[in-house]
Amino acid sequence: MENFGELSESSAWAWEGFSDAGIDEFELDSGTNNGSNAATESAPMNLEPPPETEYYDTYQQLLVAVNNWALKQGYAITSKRTLKSKRGKGELYKIYLQCDRGGRQKDRSNGIRSCASRRIDCPFDAVAKKDADLWSLKIRDPEHNHPPFLSALAHPVHRKMDKETRNEVRNLSRQPIKPREITAYIRLNAPDQRLTRRDVYNERVRLRREQLGKYTPTQALLHEFQRRGITHTPLFETSPTVGEQNIDQRLCGLFFTFPWCEKMWASHPEVLLIDATYKTNRFRMPLVQFTGVSNLHTNFNIGFCFINSEDENAYVWTIQRLSDLISARGGQPPQVIVTDNEDGLKNACDTVFPDAQQILCTWHIDKNVLGRARKTWITNDSEEDGKTAQEFMGHWRNVARSKTLVEFRDNWAILEGQYAEQVELINYLKAEYLPLRHQWVDFWADQAMNYGTR
Ligand SMILES: [Zn+2]
Repeated sequence: MENFGELSESSAWAWEGFSDAGIDEFELDSGTNNGSNAATESAPMNLEPPPETEYYDTYQQLLVAVNNWALKQGYAITSKRTLKSKRGKGELYKIYLQCDRGGRQKDRSNGIRSCASRRIDCPFDAVAKKDADLWSLKIRDPEHNHPPFLSALAHPVHRKMDKETRNEVRNLSRQPIKPREITAYIRLNAPDQRLTRRDVYNERVRLRREQLGKYTPTQALLHEFQRRGITHTPLFETSPTVGEQNIDQRLCGLFFTFPWCEKMWASHPEVLLIDATYKTNRFRMPLVQFTGVSNLHTNFNIGFCFINSEDENAYVWTIQRLSDLISARGGQPPQVIVTDNEDGLKNACDTVFPDAQQILCTWHIDKNVLGRARKTWITNDSEEDGKTAQEFMGHWRNVARSKTLVEFRDNWAILEGQYAEQVELINYLKAEYLPLRHQWVDFWADQAMNYGTR
């Protein structure tokens, strides 16, 4: 009954609007039922079958015509089985048609998605036949066991996109517009195009596949950067300096920035924040983000870099790209660099921008200290005095916000005194952060021009 394989595989059937994909976002019409209701079976619905008196040059024309008819009646016709002649090129000469609510109702116990309930054994049955080069229709059973649908959108056959709409979807898809918004736009502007978000989504996938063509995603990205004139520098495995656009080589680094980033940066060159995120992205590389600070204390992007390693050399290559950009426009190197406490990154900054003062990002410090506090926290009987890791963090922040040397010494003494039992934590702070106090305590860090960004 459900032999669609021959149809969907045949390229002749790659015809717009005739995919028999499942319903993805539309439930069946509320006016219908799942077929187990005896009332509908005993009271056949008055859905007129298409006329048998027409002739068509191609089966596509026939299918469009019968479905245009069915659409007005409130049902949809799909093909069930095709017959090809055994001689010659195996020409199609017969297509068995059914209502798209025909076919056996799938066993619900196997958890197949809800579109299964579309098939309720509707008896409607017809055949399209080619005779003397012309296609015609013969109705074998005109009856349906369901009322007309309320929305054609639940019936894939009736969802369609003409060439113009398809191009529109593609153009919109090249911009940062969500499928939902594209669907809404098309529905508003071309209401005769019955399509769902799923159709738009599928079209976008098709577009992306075409755009990629013979390229890998990385190669396609580089081409796209070139096409759009986006400043970028790739690093290839075999050429450690600058890629020679031999895109067959493995990409192991990619720096890029955008004109508006460069413009902002040219006006506000003093502070550079560097943040490396190790989370996986679709390129499965760490992403280093360079951020600047405006005179209004807002942040703006300077540039981005994917690197395939987190060692010092990779960071040097990355930061060197920024230095190149500065040289190219005759600008000033940063005076202050804010990083997290990672040796490779900090050393790389020292190498490329030796005159910049380095400051640690307090956000990262707080995160690390809190993590350590939670891990090493010692709970004891004196818990009633309210000593918790959270409360500890308040004292820790007081230390970091000390505005004078005296304040810093006092705040540290308070912390050390009140949390003396947290030996491991205090030792960690002493070893990791006290030696770097010039890079994170306000008293010293404020002396570096940091625009209060920490
Ligand atoms: Zn039917």
